Amino acid sequence: MRYFSSKLPQTYKATRNALAGCDFSTKLSPWLALGALSAPQIIAALGEHERVHGKTDSTYWIWFELLWRDYFRYLHLQHGAKLYRAQGLSTVAFSATAVDVSAWQAWARGETGEALVDAGMCELYQTGYLSNRMRQIVASYLIHDLRGDWRQGAAWFEHCLLDYDVYSNQGNWLYIAGRGTDPRGGRRFNVAHQARQYDPDGAYRSRWLG
Ligand SMILES: Cc1cc2nc3c(=O)[nH]c(=O)nc-3n(C[C@H](O)[C@H](O)[C@H](O)COP(=O)(O)OP(=O)(O)OC[C@H]3O[C@@H](n4cnc5c(N)ncnc54)[C@H](O)[C@@H]3O)c2cc1C
Repeated sequence: MRYFSSKLPQTYKATRNALAGCDFSTKLSPWLALGALSAPQIIAALGEHERVHGKTDSTYWIWFELLWRDYFRYLHLQHGAKLYRAQGLSTVAFSATAVDVSAWQAWARGETGEALVDAGMCELYQTGYLSNRMRQIVASYLIHDLRGDWRQGAAWFEHCLLDYDVYSNQGNWLYIAGRGTDPRGGRRFNVAHQARQYDPDGAYRSRWLG
C-alpha cells in the first residue's frame, strides 16, 4: 500500500492508461485476487491519502475503478451461469464452429503479426500481468479482428494472469464482446490508433518483441 503514502494517487486518472511501468496504476490487483487485501482496506488507505493530500478527480477514479470490481461480482450474483454461455447475456447467438483455431493460437503465442497485440501477449505470458489498456486491446483484437471465441480468450487470461479473478475477468471479456449488459454492443479498439496514442515511439513494442 506504499502507493497511497506517495503522491501517485494524485495523478492516477492521467496515468492509468499507460502500458508500462510500476507506478502508472496501483498494482494492487494480485493482492485483491488472492484475498490478501480487501477493497475496504484499499478504500481506507485512499481515504487517509485524501485527508493528507486532498481529494482530486484522480483519487475519485481509483474508487470508481473499485466499483467496477464490485459491479462484476453483483453481475454474477444476478446472472450466474448465463455469463458462461457462448452468447453471454446477448440474444444474438455465437457460433463457435466458425472460429479459426490457428488464429487463436497465433494470438495466444503473440504471433499475429500485429506488433502491439503481439507485444501485449508476450508481456502477459512472461510476467502474468498486463495493463488494463493492453488487456482491452488484445481482447478486442481476438474478438473483433480475428473473430475468435471470447471464451477462449478469457480462458487464456485465466491461465496467465497473476491477478486472475473470475468475476472481473469474465465480466470484462463479456463487456468487450458486447455480450454483457452494455447497450453499446461491444468495444472495438483500432490497434493502429491505440499504438499511435499509447506507444508513439514504439518503446513498448520494442521491449517485448526485441
Ligand atoms: C479483458 C480483461 C480481463 C481482465 N481480467 C481481470 C482479472 O482477471 N482480474 C482483475 O483483477 N482484473 C481484471 N481486469 C481489470 C483490470 O485490467 C485490472 O484489474 C487492472 O489492470 C489491475 O491493475 P491495477 O491493480 O494496477 O489496477 P488499477 O488501475 O490500479 O485499479 C485499482 C483496482 O480497481 C479494480 N479495477 C480496475 N479496473 C477494473 C476493471 N476494468 N474491471 C474490474 N476491476 C477493475 C482492480 O481491482 C484494481 O486492482 C481485466 C480487464 C480486461 C479488459
